[in-house]
Formats: sequence, C-alpha cells, structure tokens
Amino acid sequence: MLLQVNHLDAFYGRLQALWDVSVEVEQGEIIALIGSNGAGKSTFLKSIAGSIKHTSGEILFNDRDIRGGKPSKIVGSGIVMCPEGRQVFPRLSVRENLRAGGYLAGKEQVEAGYERAYSRFPVLKERASQYAGTLSGGEQQMLAIARALMVAPTLLMLDEPSLGLSPLFTEKIFEIIADIQKEGVTIILVEQNAVMALSVAHRGYVIQNGRIVSTDTGANLLKNEDIISQYLGSR
Ligand code: ATP
Repeated sequence: MLLQVNHLDAFYGRLQALWDVSVEVEQGEIIALIGSNGAGKSTFLKSIAGSIKHTSGEILFNDRDIRGGKPSKIVGSGIVMCPEGRQVFPRLSVRENLRAGGYLAGKEQVEAGYERAYSRFPVLKERASQYAGTLSGGEQQMLAIARALMVAPTLLMLDEPSLGLSPLFTEKIFEIIADIQKEGVTIILVEQNAVMALSVAHRGYVIQNGRIVSTDTGANLLKNEDIISQYLGSR
C-alpha cells in the first residue's frame, strides 16, 4: 500500500473537521474523494500535506508515519498537493511559477521539469515569459498541475481541479489526470464534480460531515443512485 490513512481526526482549534477517516491508496491508482461543500475534502488533503497540525491517527506513506511532518519534508518524500483555486503566483511568469514548484529540486531536475511541463502543456511554453495572472482559468489550472509535477511526485493530490472551468476545459483536465496516472503517478482527486471524478477513478470514497460514509469502485459508486442522489445531487 502506498498510502494508508488510519483513524484520522483533524481539528481547527476546537472544531473537529475529520472523524475517524481511514483511506487506502495503492500505487498507481486514481482515488476520488467526493462530497458536498464543507464535508472535509480539503482538510483531508491538507492533513496529508502537513499543513494542518492538529491531527490524530496515522498517515502511513510507504509504511512510514508522516503525520505532523513539515510540509517541505512531505514534498521531499514524494507527496505534492495542487491546491483548490490553483493559487498560481499572478505576478510571476509561467516559467517562474514552474521554478517555484521545483524549489526543492536541483538544477538538473528543474530543467527536466520544464521540458516535461512544456511537452505536456505546449501552451505553457508559448506563454513561458507571460505573467501567470494573464492566463485563462483553464491555463492556470494546467500551470498549477505542471508546477506540482516539477518535483516528479509519487503521489499527486488535486483539490477541485475542475472548479470554475468550462465543460471543455474540465474534460481536458480530466484527460490530463488520466494521462498522468498512466505515466505511473498515483493520484488522489478531490472533486465536487462527482460524476467526472468517479469516471476516471479506480475507487472512490464519499465523505459527509467529516466522516467516510461509503467506499467502492468508481464504477459501482457511479451506478449507486442512492449515493448520487443523497450525497452528490442528481446527475
Ligand atoms: P469545499 O469544497 O467547500 O472546500 P471541503 O469538503 O473541502 O469543502 P473543508 O474545506 O475541508 O471542506 O472544510 C471542512 C470543515 O472545516 C468545514 O466545516 C469548514 O467550515 C471547516 N474549516 C475549513 N477550514 C477551516 C479553517 N481554516 N478554520 C476553521 N474551520 C475551517
């Protein structure tokens, strides 16, 4: 098992946001975590990334407990998060944004990272010296993903990659996610767009009010009308 989260609780001050969350991710899988607004999806990713300190339980990555580790150390171990809302640096160029993603990497790895980013996303090469803030939403999402891939992670965590994108760009982003997985990167995908997410995911977890309420293969969850209507809204 690449990642094994056992009985994770997470808190913001005295507010408990995750309750006894257990999730397993095998090497090479795409896992979707779906649920409505405020269910705890981002909190789950942030707990793994080390940006929420107040947690209990276990987060085993390659059998080592990384819970409570420094975010930079967690990136160094091979886990990278692509945050909700992209969070590119608008006043830095596309290339400088990519450089920032590789801040832990050596010069050679950064050069290789640029090459990978530009061949995957030719538009980023065309716009390499342009301010990231001038890119369209879809292009910014591509940049955010490319930036996350600069350190060649083992596990990529994507928080709402389709948020605010047109249907066309949403489809493109999901194609990109499937391609990244085919190249061997394991992916945890957090999405409100449940139908799209479950279509690409091997397995899915449904989270409600900070608790996992269901898990199954992506295909089975998609067929489960109860889940779709109760937690995810109608199709
Ligand atoms: P969304 O898709 O709307 O971001 P989510 O499923 O990602 O939803 P979280 O952002 O993880 O949900 O939030 C889970 C709960 O924790 C919510 O009740 C939210 O209000 C609360 N919460 C999130 N961030 C903080 C914070 N910084 N301080 C206090 N409470 C927070």
